Amino acid sequence: MENLMYFDNNSTTPLDPRVFEKMKPFFTEFYGNSSSTLYRLGRESHTAIDHSRAQVAQLLNCQADEITFTSGATESISTLLQGVFHLNKSKGQHYVTCKTEHKAVLENFKFLEKQGAIVNYLDVNEKGEINLDELKKAIQPDTVLVAIMAANNETGVLHPIEKIAKICLEREVLYFCDATQQIGKLPLNLEKIPIDLLCFSSHKIYGPKGVGGHFIRKRTKRIQVQPLILGGKQENGNRSGTQNVPGIVGLGFAAEYAQEELSQYASHTKNLRDLFEREMKKTEELLIHGNTADRLPNVSNIEVSYLNTVEIISASQSFAFSMGSACSTENLGPSHVLRAMNLSDQACKSSLRISFGKQNTENEVLQFIKHLQEIIPNLRSKSPYWQIFKAGLWT
Ligand code: PLP
Repeated sequence: MENLMYFDNNSTTPLDPRVFEKMKPFFTEFYGNSSSTLYRLGRESHTAIDHSRAQVAQLLNCQADEITFTSGATESISTLLQGVFHLNKSKGQHYVTCKTEHKAVLENFKFLEKQGAIVNYLDVNEKGEINLDELKKAIQPDTVLVAIMAANNETGVLHPIEKIAKICLEREVLYFCDATQQIGKLPLNLEKIPIDLLCFSSHKIYGPKGVGGHFIRKRTKRIQVQPLILGGKQENGNRSGTQNVPGIVGLGFAAEYAQEELSQYASHTKNLRDLFEREMKKTEELLIHGNTADRLPNVSNIEVSYLNTVEIISASQSFAFSMGSACSTENLGPSHVLRAMNLSDQACKSSLRISFGKQNTENEVLQFIKHLQEIIPNLRSKSPYWQIFKAGLWT
């Protein structure tokens, strides 16, 4: 691939070469099934998985037996939401979530609504923040669970998860946190924050794709989650199916390196993001979404008003970035996250998500800025929207 500058790290990250080295022997040399513990080859796989569980638990500051490995955050979200719903009907069928959650959460709730769940979707303000008083009001005596993500994948806006977890604890409802975008970018300490259920994904933290997992609090609570995948009772009966040993080993080391490099990651990506925004703000009619809220260090969601994102993307083939969310490129409708922040359809269609990673350099960012500053006026000069705006006729 020639000179592609990759700024779509919230969509996925490249595999860290150190992680790849750790995975390699588990494809070829140590290929045993981790359930086949009668012989050494199987036991080696089993031990490697135990090691990975401890590495992930260390990153999250929880116990290793509270971690279940799955194929990724989408599977974990499906397991947790459907699994809680099926075993808690006697407590109630009421759930609270937020309009800006990832589609994996929203689609699972849509599915559960067809089976009798009543779901309350909290609004966000124009910065992408929820109102904690509205959350408190939404929790009913029959509420089973609140699902509010840690960091938004499109804007990077952070929800106050510590406060949300405390509200849920006081009101005796479960708190599920989709932490897929926060893990490895900012600290998340499960000993300090009373989150009950949480999911994460390897490919967002420089690990391999197709692996991730979830946390279910065990020490202080008895939480019932019905497994989604049934069979040979691997993963302590929480997720059947032969474990993806190389993938899990990769996730374990990705978690270990993420923990070691957390503050370095945050300051490096924030420097790149701040440089990008500082320079891009000089462009006429350019807005930054979510920048007045607490946000992840690595994301910038910009609106290049009176231009369509598709035009910018097609003029930028040497650069990879995203329109709103990578998960919505199959669905070219306006981003549900930006719509929830009260942006018009046109504003959503003019928005780009740029997400920096640890491998990006200042030089790459400068080249990207230069490129955008050249093409934006050029594309706008051909854009009817821009001409209408410039003529003062835009209403
Ligand atoms: N949740 C969030 C916030 C995400 O950003 C993503 C991926 O884009 C997912 C869930 C799904 O993760 P996975 O690709 O591991 O299924």
